Amino acid sequence: MNEGSFIIKGDFCWSKSLTVLETRPGAFLVCVEGKSAGVFPRVPEQYAGLPLVDYSDKLIVPGLADLHIHAPQFSFRGLGMDKELLDWLETRAFPEEVKYRNIEYARKSYGFLIEHLKRGPNTRIVFFATVHTAATLLLMDMLEESGLVCLAGKVNMDRNSPTNLSEENAAASLAATRDWLDKCSAYKNVRPILTPRFIPSCSDGLMEGLGKLQREFNLPVQSHLSENHKEIEWVKKLHPDISGYGAVYDRFGLFGHSPAEAGAPAVMAHCVHSDEKEIALLSERQVYIAHCPQSNTNLSSGIAPVRHFLQRDLWDCSGPY
Ligand SMILES: [Zn+2]
Repeated sequence: MNEGSFIIKGDFCWSKSLTVLETRPGAFLVCVEGKSAGVFPRVPEQYAGLPLVDYSDKLIVPGLADLHIHAPQFSFRGLGMDKELLDWLETRAFPEEVKYRNIEYARKSYGFLIEHLKRGPNTRIVFFATVHTAATLLLMDMLEESGLVCLAGKVNMDRNSPTNLSEENAAASLAATRDWLDKCSAYKNVRPILTPRFIPSCSDGLMEGLGKLQREFNLPVQSHLSENHKEIEWVKKLHPDISGYGAVYDRFGLFGHSPAEAGAPAVMAHCVHSDEKEIALLSERQVYIAHCPQSNTNLSSGIAPVRHFLQRDLWDCSGPY
């Protein structure tokens, strides 16, 4: 037994499915080497020697998972809600992200973020970092130390972005990504996730190269999808030959996989304006949808049809992730 083996006593509540809550008052959760062995009315004999933490009369729920946090956006949370997505990126998000070239700035800012997260309910988190390899690795180092279990991604962007933030071209972005991936093997609790920012900021050559990297390393992928009307129009102009926004990711092999294929999943943030065709593709490729209600409200993007997603079983992405 290691330090991940213990018993917690308390009042437990968890969801067994979308509509069923399970409650076990005054019960014992047994954790063996970091994994739950079950919740029992009494401590089973074989676990009697484990240390017990008594939280009697306290409610205990499983940790939550946040599928979409931009780590560099924490520092200006609550500010700049006067614009829609594309203008907000130009005036708020991009100028802030430029600062992560400075590793000391990144250390300070990510330190505040992680201290905040440690006091919150999320124990599993998927992060966007920035284009900067050093700052992304620093974020991963700090997350590893925090005890949170995370996926974190170095952002790729090589077009339609400010020159002081954009990567020089597809080749430079892909080389930096491979260099970053080579340095990710040391982590236990933090794993890399490929992170093309969104279609407008990634050239075809970059998307093609990321698709190859995805298959070579079987990596999960995260990006943004159908968040804002102007953004969707822009994607249509950039890819008039492809039938939809999600279909562009799919063209490059960056949109999850069908149930018959083994492979790492994709996470798409927002999906506020996905039409039925796109929802069918999300379902077919078992893509995780990251619902971002605060952002959708603050940037006036719209209201994501979450009930519709739930009715289509889009929440049920059971798997190793
Ligand atoms: Zn985002």
